[in-house]
Amino acid sequence: GHTDHNKDSLQDPNQPNQETLARLERDFTLTTAQLQSLVKVFVNDMKRGLRSDTSVFKMIPSHVTSRPNGTETGTVLALDLGGSNFRVCEVNLEGKGVVRTRQRKFVVSDDLKTGTGEELFDFFADCVIAFLAEIKLPKDVNMKLGFTFSFPVQQLAINKGIAIQWTKGFTASGVEGKDVVGLLQDAFHRKGLKIEVSALANDTVGTLIAHAYVDASTYVGVILGTGTNAAYVERVDQIPKWKGAAPSSGEMVINMEWGAWGSEGVLLPTTSYDKQLDRASANPRAQIYEKMISGLYLGEITRYVLVDLISTGELFRGRGSAALAKPYNFDTANMSRIERDHTIELSDTRSVLEELSGIQHTSLADRRLVKRVCELIGTRAARLSAVGIAGVITKINRLDGCTVAVDGSVFEYYPHFANRIRDALREVVGVNAESIVLAQARDGSGQGAALIAAIN
Ligand code: BGC
Ligand code: MG
Repeated sequence: GHTDHNKDSLQDPNQPNQETLARLERDFTLTTAQLQSLVKVFVNDMKRGLRSDTSVFKMIPSHVTSRPNGTETGTVLALDLGGSNFRVCEVNLEGKGVVRTRQRKFVVSDDLKTGTGEELFDFFADCVIAFLAEIKLPKDVNMKLGFTFSFPVQQLAINKGIAIQWTKGFTASGVEGKDVVGLLQDAFHRKGLKIEVSALANDTVGTLIAHAYVDASTYVGVILGTGTNAAYVERVDQIPKWKGAAPSSGEMVINMEWGAWGSEGVLLPTTSYDKQLDRASANPRAQIYEKMISGLYLGEITRYVLVDLISTGELFRGRGSAALAKPYNFDTANMSRIERDHTIELSDTRSVLEELSGIQHTSLADRRLVKRVCELIGTRAARLSAVGIAGVITKINRLDGCTVAVDGSVFEYYPHFANRIRDALREVVGVNAESIVLAQARDGSGQGAALIAAIN
């Protein structure tokens, strides 16, 4: 049970309560030994997924069987539906690994995410029309188009794939179970566009392929953003469930859908806060690993912890705030600001709490506790990401050197995230960690789909 910590006279008033800290640290810390044993399970779960479609990792053959070599040329359109934005870009492949793009970003509103699929895909077509007008191309232009769809899809061909299930808070009706290229093509027809979709790719596959265009030692693409996932280059003889023709390259890019890890049961060390988050989410019992790592959820886990600490009187002297009581109202970007706060009085942290949560008159001890909560949750996310990266590289035997292309807001903007991953990699793979290059691959997801469209 919780005691009334305010009565503890030995407590330094500027420091958070030691018992509270110890309890949170126990809940959220992953030891080296835990990381190592998780990597072993991870590799094994990868193998299971390559054998059968019913495993926790879907290990989806992407139908991408070759990587670009940097000499590809052409002009292609790319559409990129991520977790929060929809991008339309024109990609010019100039050979020698050079890409030029013009692009425009559109925000996908919550109404679109949770309305009907037809409205959602009509919106995509309208964005394409607006973009074509902007770059002064006629509406009936005939160009190749690559479609990046950042959700699980059973890929049936390079330009055909059935949406399996929504993630990241999307619930648009009439999409699951349908070919998303067909849905897009239908919307194009309704809106009078002539463009033909020549490639469909997951964002991880796009990120991998785009980076391979500039760095031939790229074998893995990872997204650490609103959601999380990875794709990697597998040998076809390692994919027992693949019944298609053997590609001449002998290679197949696999979309792992690693965010689903932990959905089978008790494997991941979840806390009561993770469980609350999962139960209240749009997709309970699914994407457990994603819910411990990615940007849509880190702020929400933090919010649950803060709400709990307030309810026990351990934080803000028990004074709550309506803003903090509201689901998804504590953005992961707040954690970034708080973790970046190195002022003596933690005054940026104070501003975050005042501005966003309406919490006034915080003590320094309060702010230190909030910062520590962010550190614990952010560090756990980075260390769990490292488990996945180490697992993939172990599986493909590239511990002696390979490039992992990483994109996504958490990797790019969350302070210390990359370094925490590197620290954890050192703990699990030792000196080999030095040969693993984590390369920031900004906006690769769309460019990669364009490249795939260009070579198909
Ligand atoms: C989706 C993946 C995607 C990842 C990153 C996850 O929620 O299931 O398909 O690659 O988010 O965007
Ligand atoms: Mg993206």
